Parts: sequence; C-alpha cells; structure tokens
Amino acid sequence: MYEPTPRQLSTGLHALWGGIVLGADRLDRRLQSRGLPPGLSVLVTIVGWYSLLGAVERRRPHDDEWAGTTADRRADAAFFAMSAAAASTASNYGSSLVRRLLPGRTAMPLARLGPVGGLAASLLISDLVHYTLHRTSHEWGPAWTVHSVHHSPAGLNTWNATRFHPFEQALEGVLEGFVVGLAGFSPTQHLTHSTARATYGQLQHINADVDSGPLDHVFSTPDLHRWHHSEVYAEGDNNYGAVISIWDRIFGTFFRPNRPLDSELGVGRMPDFPQRFLESMLTPFRWGAIKGRNASTWLTPGTNPDLHKRS
Ligand SMILES: [Zn+2]
Repeated sequence: MYEPTPRQLSTGLHALWGGIVLGADRLDRRLQSRGLPPGLSVLVTIVGWYSLLGAVERRRPHDDEWAGTTADRRADAAFFAMSAAAASTASNYGSSLVRRLLPGRTAMPLARLGPVGGLAASLLISDLVHYTLHRTSHEWGPAWTVHSVHHSPAGLNTWNATRFHPFEQALEGVLEGFVVGLAGFSPTQHLTHSTARATYGQLQHINADVDSGPLDHVFSTPDLHRWHHSEVYAEGDNNYGAVISIWDRIFGTFFRPNRPLDSELGVGRMPDFPQRFLESMLTPFRWGAIKGRNASTWLTPGTNPDLHKRS
C-alpha cells in the first residue's frame, strides 16, 4: 500500500483542510435543503475531521507515548464539549455586540473578496487577536495561570487540542466575534471562517509523522506548534499562531530551529500539574498550591533563568 512521505502527508492534510473549509458553505446549503438548521455543517465537519485525523494518528504516529490514556480521552471529551460551547456562545455574543453597538451598520466591505480572499482576511484578523492574547498569556503571570491548562499534556494529539480553560475561550471568543463581525464579512464568509477555526487546531496538534516544510511560513503547522508546547520556556514562548504563522514572523516569535525537538512537553518546571478536567478548571484558583507541590523544580531561579516572565 502506498505510504506518503512526511512532507506529502502534511501537504495532503493541509490541502484537504483547505478543501473542506472552502466547501463548508456548499455542505451547509445541502444540509439545509434536507431540513437541517443552518450552521450544522460545522459540527458535521468536526466529526468527520476528527475521525480522519484519528485514523492518520493510528497509522502514522509521531510518538507512541503521545497517544494518551483512556482517562486522558475522558478528560479530552469533557474539554471538547465545554470548549465548543464556550467558544461558540462567546463568539456569537461578540458578533451580537457589533449589531447592538452599531445598529445602523449594514455595509459588508470585505464581502467582495470572495471565498479565498475572505478566508485569508478573516484569518489574518482573528489570528492577530489570538496572537495578542496568546502571547500575553505566556508573558503575564496571572494570564499564564489560566492558559497553562492548555499546556498540561505531556504529548500532543488531535484529541487534546481543545484543552482550554473556559475563561480563555470566553475572552477570545468575544473579542474574535466582535472584531471579525466588525470587519464586515458575508454570512458565507463567516461560515467558512468558523469552519476553519473549528478544525485547524486538531491538525495543529496531530500526533502524526509530518514534515510541513515551506508550509511553516504560512501556517502554524504541527511541526511549529510542537516547539510551542516544549516545557523549556525559551523554546515554548514562540509560535503563537492559531492557524497562520505570519504574525509570528512579523513580531519575531517564529521559531523553527534546524534540529529535532528533544525537550519534554508540558508546563515547564511543573511535573506535577493538574491533568483531569475538574482540577484543571480550578487551576487559576489553586496556583499557589500547585507551585507549592512543585517547589523543588519551580522555585530555583538560579538554575531556571527562563522563569523570569512567570510568577
Ligand atoms: Zn500557549
């Protein structure tokens, strides 16, 4: 049976992702013609996409130890349900704020860009919002107590891509919904954008043997994102993009060294970090206790110079 090279695998998955995203509107109209509600295509696409990426992970794993346990999967499922609800509710609220604050606004200046141009524009806008919040979460101690939940896994896979604290999802969802709503996209472009944002994270976290090569210069690929999850802060405080890597290149946080990643993944200097769903929800409120139980590795600034940004 034909086996693609790691470069071909990444290129193929990205091409497929692009096709799915740009075909989202057609799928949605087809589902509506069968009496299903508008927007359901996003959920249908997520289910199919997860199934495909899961199959790729089983056939071509990057690291067998990153697959996770049954308990991890249970936690991942709870995170997914909460993240999907928090992100979509917050995003809808952000969009509604535009209508509420600017009730006479009817112009859609970016609607004329078409599907590809509209997708590029919406991703540039939303990824700038994401970049700003994400980088702040790494560089400002109080925000790190929330975002660190996303960095808790010791290995990446498509199932733990949505491990986020709801505070983070809610804030980013409202801001992104507001800014993208303000930009003036058409409903079709909004659906395309929602599908892109709801599906790239799973590809970005995939535990598959991929080599993205030149795609790194445009997309925030799995290869780049693994460095972001390094427990070595000097490596992990880079590659903040959600879908694209362009803002990392502009702001000097694009990190792709010419060597294999051999660092452990996880929350740096905190080997005993919450892993289950409910204790993860409490992480920002129990930060002092978590630091305390990791005191031997956390509270040694002499040997951990990269802790300077955290408290
Ligand atoms: Zn991060």
